[in-house]
Amino acid sequence: MIDARLVRVRGVVQGVGFRPFVYRLARAHGVTGWVLNGTDGVRIHAEGAEDALRGFLRELEASPPRAASIDAIEVAVADVGGFTDFLIRASDAQGTTSARISPDLPVCDRCVAELLDPADRRAGYPYINCTDCGPRFSIIHELPYDRAQTTMSAWTMCEACAREYDDPHDRRFHAQPIACAECGPHYAFVDGEQTLAGDTGSVHGAIDAAIRALREGSIVAMKGIGGYHLVCDARAPESVRALRERKFRKDRPFAIMARDLETASATVHLSTASETLLTSVARPIVLAPSRVMLPFVAPGTRELGIMLPYTPLQHLLFARGAPALLVVTSANRSSEPIAYRDDEAHEQLSGIASAFLVGARPIARRVDDSVARAGVLGPVILRRARGYAPAAAARLASGRPILAVGSDLKNAVTLVVDGEAFVSQHLGDLVHHASYLAFEEAVHDLTRMYRVQWTDLVLVHDLHPQFASTAFALKLPCAERRAVQHHRAHIASVLAEHGALEAHVIGAAFDGTGYGDDGTIWGGEFFAGSVATGLRRVAHLRPASLPGGDAAARWPVQAAAGFLSCLNDLPVLASAPFSFPERYRNAQRLIECGVRTFTTTSVGRLFDAMAAIAGYTGEVTYEGQAAIWLEQSGRDAGPQTAYSFPFVDGVLDFRPALVEAIDDRVCGRTAPEIARAFHAGLALGIADALEALCATERTLDVVLSGGVFQNELLLEDLVARLSSTPLRLRMNRIVPPNDGGISLGQAALALN
Ligand code: ZN
Ligand code: ZN
Ligand code: FE
Repeated sequence: MIDARLVRVRGVVQGVGFRPFVYRLARAHGVTGWVLNGTDGVRIHAEGAEDALRGFLRELEASPPRAASIDAIEVAVADVGGFTDFLIRASDAQGTTSARISPDLPVCDRCVAELLDPADRRAGYPYINCTDCGPRFSIIHELPYDRAQTTMSAWTMCEACAREYDDPHDRRFHAQPIACAECGPHYAFVDGEQTLAGDTGSVHGAIDAAIRALREGSIVAMKGIGGYHLVCDARAPESVRALRERKFRKDRPFAIMARDLETASATVHLSTASETLLTSVARPIVLAPSRVMLPFVAPGTRELGIMLPYTPLQHLLFARGAPALLVVTSANRSSEPIAYRDDEAHEQLSGIASAFLVGARPIARRVDDSVARAGVLGPVILRRARGYAPAAAARLASGRPILAVGSDLKNAVTLVVDGEAFVSQHLGDLVHHASYLAFEEAVHDLTRMYRVQWTDLVLVHDLHPQFASTAFALKLPCAERRAVQHHRAHIASVLAEHGALEAHVIGAAFDGTGYGDDGTIWGGEFFAGSVATGLRRVAHLRPASLPGGDAAARWPVQAAAGFLSCLNDLPVLASAPFSFPERYRNAQRLIECGVRTFTTTSVGRLFDAMAAIAGYTGEVTYEGQAAIWLEQSGRDAGPQTAYSFPFVDGVLDFRPALVEAIDDRVCGRTAPEIARAFHAGLALGIADALEALCATERTLDVVLSGGVFQNELLLEDLVARLSSTPLRLRMNRIVPPNDGGISLGQAALALN
């Protein structure tokens, strides 16, 4: 008795060796029929005896390929077709496109072993890959995922590669980017005098030349998975300093790549959780406390961003003698998006790099390295790009497609198709024109790949009238447009990830800047309600003045002038021990005359003001620098008596804490002591506010989001304080708590 079933598998099931897996499984169970990639996932027609089918389906669910992630398996009875064999059929491009695009995968252990085995036919070949590993998102032009629709379409497989590609028992069966030194792309080393290409001599020629350049202290631009990197020896201070000067990058830390896990653990303190993150398939840059001094790599901070090699090229570099610790930073001029086209890289980087290691395989779209940290509540993604994007971040049941364009800072966009919320890779700060172009490119790219018509879209943007993303949303044709307040979007991003759209919660959204309902600058907000019923603002930080508006974010003393303007009997802060520069006095004058002075509840600016009081009186050259300084200072002191942050009538008052900090500084207490007492006090104040609001609203569910909660010292104190209460705490774990998560929250709030 022969039965037939039509099976649909949804999730990340394309480009991860799923069809060959199904093929082998069908053969093993004596099942006939076919498998193909459709636009909504993998489709299988399976025929066989009843227990053969049952065994086949059980194993399909229980042991999918390592890189696959199954969301749903739908099984329906089908007509028996009388198949005598099991086949992999051509892709079906009909219907809507909601198949998942796999993020890029790191080269697998078996490919690395072949790469380094002189007897293997792919020894030293920098584009080695198999169905378990290699690029995906960064090479795909169109869905479904087939070689002809990738940036590998220009290369024709040689006989040996074609044999592997067609052999169901081979690890490279239907590995779309399959290639070897015979038939595939190569790397070339280009400097002022010479060009060494891998396909004209030994496969190692170009790579060995790059290694020599690195050992001599040169800066080499290297084409990677989602863009170019600028690379130099992390232990050569002169090289790192030159890189900093040529990139016009004053203080912002560079990421480093360690040869192996052993080198990484000698460089940073790796907790078990950090190690898990470092070796995870996303291979992000992991922030961890430094164990070594690397001049100019991460000035003024004690954390290092470290990653492990994830491409065959990187493994080859280390195996053939490159310095064991390399600076590997996105190739761009300061603040611009990562360069990923060859011509653009040459033009932008020739003043920075003295040589180029250029791979011939084109990059379909730019994808930066991701940044993550093992936090007190689990992994936190700070920049979501390679290895994570464009995986679905949440299920949002919507009949219509939704495009949410995010915030202007740390932009990422979200597209909801067939109930799946796909969050783009990190796109940067849209104030920079090049990042704005990257943003437009990503929007068109996502909507094109998922075949979404503009006129069907619900378009969601921030409430800020001056945002570039808002202007973009306003000029596009669409079915409907929605504006969502920034801090509500922060809270909704957490609830969307957790699939808790109905949960009645108290949410705290603390960050640097967001446009408020009343047109003032918000950033210390408490909400009550749910995503489904709406979020009411129920409390906030005491409003302060902000002279110069957003420009105050660059000068902590300017923020200090705003926050201190409501206090009486201040000591003269221009003299010791404070020594505030003239800028402070100028900011005070703006407030006195009411010129360019705004009202704010920004906790980010409160951190800046406190940093200034504790001694940070210089400029901030990257976002959050003063707050990071204050957090790290706080770690240098033991536990301190917390400053007081009373919560009265829905207002969290910072004034007593500022008075205490100033008194302490006058009495000669150190910056670490002041910083620690501030963190402890703010944590207590937040906890008091949450407890009071939860009591009023009769809920135990608390949500935290916003850039301020990337502060681990604050979070540790807060978690410790809340652990003695019945409150349940939720935070972001899939999208960043910073503005990189805003678009997901916007999309969730547009469901109503
Ligand atoms: Zn592999
Ligand atoms: Zn080949
Ligand atoms: Fe924000």
